[in-house]
Order: sequence, then C-alpha cells, then structure tokens
Amino acid sequence: MKIIPLVPRGYCKGVLRAIQIAKNTVKQYPNTPITILGPIVHNHYVTEALQSLGIHTLMDQGKTRYALLDEIDEGVVIFSAHGVSEYVVEKAKQKGLIVVDASCEDVKLTKEKVMHHIADGYTIFYIGKHHHPESEGVCFNHPEVRVIETPHDIPQLDPHTKIVVTTQTTMSTTMVDSLVNAIKAQYPDALIEPQICFATSSRQNAVLNMDETIDGMIIVGDTTSNNTNKLEQLAKSNAHVHTVVKINDLSELDPRVFDHCHAVGITSGASTPNSITDSVIAFMNAYAKDPSVSKSDHYPTHIL
Ligand code: SF4
Repeated sequence: MKIIPLVPRGYCKGVLRAIQIAKNTVKQYPNTPITILGPIVHNHYVTEALQSLGIHTLMDQGKTRYALLDEIDEGVVIFSAHGVSEYVVEKAKQKGLIVVDASCEDVKLTKEKVMHHIADGYTIFYIGKHHHPESEGVCFNHPEVRVIETPHDIPQLDPHTKIVVTTQTTMSTTMVDSLVNAIKAQYPDALIEPQICFATSSRQNAVLNMDETIDGMIIVGDTTSNNTNKLEQLAKSNAHVHTVVKINDLSELDPRVFDHCHAVGITSGASTPNSITDSVIAFMNAYAKDPSVSKSDHYPTHIL
C-alpha cells in the first residue's frame, strides 16, 4: 500500500495569521482577560491550545456573534478568522472592549464587495451556509443579502431585480457551479462573482485531480470545519476512491479499513494543525510497512 499526502493540504494563510494574532495578543495584553468570540478557527485542538495560553473561547451555543458578545464585559475581544459584521465591531467598541480583529483578509474582501454592490442597488445571492459565522458576518442586518444553501433558497423576485451572486470563501466549487446554474436559469442577467478563496480551491483541486491509483482517502479535520467537510464530499464523489474516512486525529483512525487499498491519499482542512496531519501520515507510512506498529509512537507532541 502506497501512502500519498496531497499537496496543498492543511493550514492556510488566514488560519496561520489568526493563530499568530491570538498568540501576540497574550504578549501585548498581559494580565488582561482575553476572549475569542467563537472559535478562532474551526478546530477544537487549536481552541484547547489557545486556552492553555490563557485565551478563553466563547463557543457559539447556537447564538449569533452579535448576541454572544453580551457575554464579554471586560478586556480584549478577538474576532475569529471567519470575520464579523460591522454591527459586532461597533457593539464591542461601545462596550469599551479592546478589539483585536483576526478576520481573514479574503473574508473581508468578500464583505467589502458585497457592501459596494448593495450601495449600487443590487440584491446579493450569497451561496453559503445558513448560521455559519462567515455568512453571518456578511449578511447580519442586511436584508438585501439572501443566503442560498440549496436551490430551495433561491427567492422568487421581480425578474428585473439587479442581482449579484457571490459565495462564502470555503464552499465547494462543484456545489457553487450547480447553484449558479440554478440561479442563472431563473435570473439569466445575474452577475456571477464567486469568492472561493485560493486556499480552499487549491485544496479541493488537489482532491479532484489526485493520482488515479488512489483508492482510499483520509481527510483530517474537525466536523465543524466547512472546508474539511467539502473535501470529504469531493473525495466521496471520486469514482476511483471506494474508501473515504474523515477523522479528527490519529486516535480515531482504524487503518485496517484500508488493507484492501493500493494507494491511500491523505489531506486535511485549512484549519487542521499540520502536526496532527503529519502524525497520521507518519503512522500510515509505518503501518504500510508493519501493520503491528503502535499509534502511540506517532501522536503529535505539539499543536500550535
Ligand atoms: S480558508 Fe480561505 S478564507 Fe478561510 S481563513 Fe483560510 S484563506 Fe482565509
């Protein structure tokens, strides 16, 4: 059995930047309570590692970021890589909090473009996930923006309505293509401006174009990570690949399910710590040579 790590995989620039900002904040504001408004990125190992540095994360609890902010009354608030609505920024300032913004630049760019189009009188069809923090950051308090997750979400508007179609940065290209086709069938004049980021599309392309000998796939990432879940969907849609497993980390891996595979590809979402993916790669390489190998020799020694 060959083990083939896909390239690129794992951490993207936006996630690395957000984690670095959080770490710098600890140094910049010693002896000050520091709270992240929702997980900084969608990976619980990262959340736990930041907690060990003294940074508390307020979990979503099904609330909007705007409502969640009611639970922070002092110190520093860090906004996550997913971005936040301008209403959240304003509310944090009014509460007297020190604001640190770790929003990814690509997410901010999408928001800026949406605001620009709204000012020009467009209605925005935003292909994304309902209740995801990134879509909330763009859509909150903007009735001109309609979130489209399935064809059922496409609204019936006056056919002369000026429409721009844009996307959450971490959507799958194939899903966006299919929703754009459905929108175009109803609104042929709609402007199409997808905003899937390079980190997301390049990781998806690596799965779509992977070596044809690969018949097993391991996806490493958190169940809450949208881009990780899209990688899993794409791997499952590949006719050559009959065994796809998504795991949080090495402890969840049962390597025996790949015993009948010729080649196993390994990839990971943009918020998955590289040390966790590397431990899975190292273990699978060892397992391919000696199935009696122990997992405990390969667990990562660090996360951040
Ligand atoms: S996946 Fe894309 S949008 Fe999200 S943090 Fe990474 S680079 Fe930014």
